[in-house]
Amino acid sequence: MEDKTTQDDEITAIKSIYEEEDIFAFDEEKRTGKFFVKIIPLNETIPFNVNLPDEKLELKVFNLPPILLEFKLPDNYPSVNPPDFKLSSRWLNNSNLGKLCQKLDELWEQNSQIPILFTWISFLNDEIFDYLSIDQQNLIIENDNSIKTDARAFVETCSSKLLINYDTDQQEIKFNKSYFQCFVCFCDKLGKDCLKFNKCNHVFCNDCMRGYFESLIFDGNVKKLNCPQEKCESQALPSQVLSLVGEEIFKRYDSLLLKDALNNMLDIVYCPRANCQCAVIPEDTTLCRCPDCKNVFCALCRQTYHGIEPCKITSHELKEIVEIYKNGDAEAREKLVLKYGERRIKQAVEETSSMNLIESTSKKCPQCRSWMQKLDGCNKMTCSKCNCYFCWLCLDQLSKADPYSHYNRENSKCFEKLFEGVYQNDREAANENHFNQDQESDEDDEDEDDEDEFEDEHIIFELLDRL
Ligand SMILES: [Zn+2]
Ligand SMILES: [Zn+2]
Ligand SMILES: [Zn+2]
Ligand SMILES: [Zn+2]
Ligand SMILES: [Zn+2]
Ligand SMILES: [Zn+2]
Repeated sequence: MEDKTTQDDEITAIKSIYEEEDIFAFDEEKRTGKFFVKIIPLNETIPFNVNLPDEKLELKVFNLPPILLEFKLPDNYPSVNPPDFKLSSRWLNNSNLGKLCQKLDELWEQNSQIPILFTWISFLNDEIFDYLSIDQQNLIIENDNSIKTDARAFVETCSSKLLINYDTDQQEIKFNKSYFQCFVCFCDKLGKDCLKFNKCNHVFCNDCMRGYFESLIFDGNVKKLNCPQEKCESQALPSQVLSLVGEEIFKRYDSLLLKDALNNMLDIVYCPRANCQCAVIPEDTTLCRCPDCKNVFCALCRQTYHGIEPCKITSHELKEIVEIYKNGDAEAREKLVLKYGERRIKQAVEETSSMNLIESTSKKCPQCRSWMQKLDGCNKMTCSKCNCYFCWLCLDQLSKADPYSHYNRENSKCFEKLFEGVYQNDREAANENHFNQDQESDEDDEDEDDEDEFEDEHIIFELLDRL
């Protein structure tokens, strides 16, 4: 009876000490109990450096799996016998675990007939590294095939995965219980209401981060779901995003992420139809057939497939691509090749060189804005698209009734400039034609056919309807 009371008092005392943590359990009926000995580094800021020769791995952890002390209190404890016990560990070997069993025996010998559990727990908590001379910075954990040195020692299996998972869980538990000041709103909040970015360990409160992520996702800015700390590049994990923004917004985020990933894959183009946007692999340099909506489009300009017709990609876009490809660093070029595919880049380079030629000989009609090219001929132009007359030099629209007055009147800014800029050979040819034309015109000013014939000689044609 005396022993039973002593036992109950001891159990109550231990329970009260470790109440907060879920590491002690006792079964009143069976008189059996468990104590999980937490293993943290001597200096809490310096992690254990663990060597796993079996996996050829080295890793750092702040928490090692606990050593488990299981015990059964005999009726005559503590007056006669010590508790029966066994020790198990995932990271101590047979030899060391055996030494610990013997040390517990020793402690009982030194303190017999008084409650020993707390003494044992204190020893296991505080002294095992010293007692076993284990270096926390070179802790070797390997498969132990040695024969048991003590029947009460149990070595459990261990792996890097297990160590990492345990450490991650423990760090999370610790984080959730700690207070942090949010760098955005400067409120002090419990870790469980905060988000910690993985690489930089910057902490912000969930309320601030939810709003921040949601606005970035709505803007389609999924690549920039990073730490809001200035110049910090740490990315939020998708799981962190999900826990904050909820299913609906996360779906949008997820599809944007996928799109981004696919965009960076070789030769994948998105169907330009707003309600489709299916990923398409081009069949040749530019031909894309959407498997979903059957849209057939050009990989470069994303417009309806135009065969051998010139591509409608804007000259600005095309030039930018070529500019980066020609002058960009290796990384920029690689990104470009990933995005458009090597063949398409080469095609773009070819297209721009002909486009440069086109642009030096092309101007926009002042009325309809169509691109017009002037290969030779005088400066009085006729737009092939809208049939208006305009001056190649000043781009003024000219009188339909008397377009040449622009070059004949002394007060005109293009006085006597009908042939300015025209090559000598062209000029002579054109002059002759004009002379003939003028004569014909004298005969019949209203002759439409003659007028058309005259315009043909200008070799004006529409090029790229880029607007
Ligand atoms: Zn905040
Ligand atoms: Zn950061
Ligand atoms: Zn489609
Ligand atoms: Zn195109
Ligand atoms: Zn026009
Ligand atoms: Zn002019």
